[in-house]
Amino acid sequence: MRDQLEALQELAKIDRGFRQFDAELEELRGRLEELRADVSRIRELLDREKGQLDEVERLRGQAVVEATDLGERITRSTGRANVARNTRERDAATREVEVLRKEREERQQRAGDLEKGVGDVRDSIARHEEDFKKLAEALESEEKHVSTRTAEIAVLREEIERARADVTKKVRADILRKYEGIRSRKGTAVAEAIDGVCRGCNVSLPPQFYAKLMAPLDVMQCPSCLRILLARPAGAGAVTS
Ligand SMILES: [Zn+2]
Repeated sequence: MRDQLEALQELAKIDRGFRQFDAELEELRGRLEELRADVSRIRELLDREKGQLDEVERLRGQAVVEATDLGERITRSTGRANVARNTRERDAATREVEVLRKEREERQQRAGDLEKGVGDVRDSIARHEEDFKKLAEALESEEKHVSTRTAEIAVLREEIERARADVTKKVRADILRKYEGIRSRKGTAVAEAIDGVCRGCNVSLPPQFYAKLMAPLDVMQCPSCLRILLARPAGAGAVTS
């Protein structure tokens, strides 16, 4: 029984290594996803800002055209005032010129405000383009790292897979089936029993059961979590029995 339990312990160690690889890859992929999401968020923001810039520029152009039109109308009305045949006509033309001048002033003011708006949006775009560049670089280097590490892990896995095959040869077929069954349900198939407690589920084991576990005649499973138990007397190091 001792050699069987030793082989199971070795198997559990190998499987723990596999789980660590899985966790590492999952974490790396998660980070990559986050970076990709950041990059696409900032790309969308830039698209929105560029649309905004087009709109502000269009409005500014419109205000400039309107101010120019008003200038032409002012010239025409001024001309009319100069050739007015009587005071009434001249006063009317002069009033028109005043109204038009006010309107032009308003359009020029608006064009100036929009010009400032254009500058602000451009600044913001420049800042976000800088952020985008940095993030895209970070993403690229992270992608390289993940692909390198994924390849490394694939190689390591193959090696460990071979070692695992050797270990499984040492385990009795019925015990191996039991081990794999528990592992597929629980993630881990083996638990240490220390000071009368199963460390897989932290449930206290019945004293007689625990006593038997110290020199087991067969594989013993935790009555609570059903993991295969490896006894470790209090104060001892890792299980060697
Ligand atoms: Zn348990």
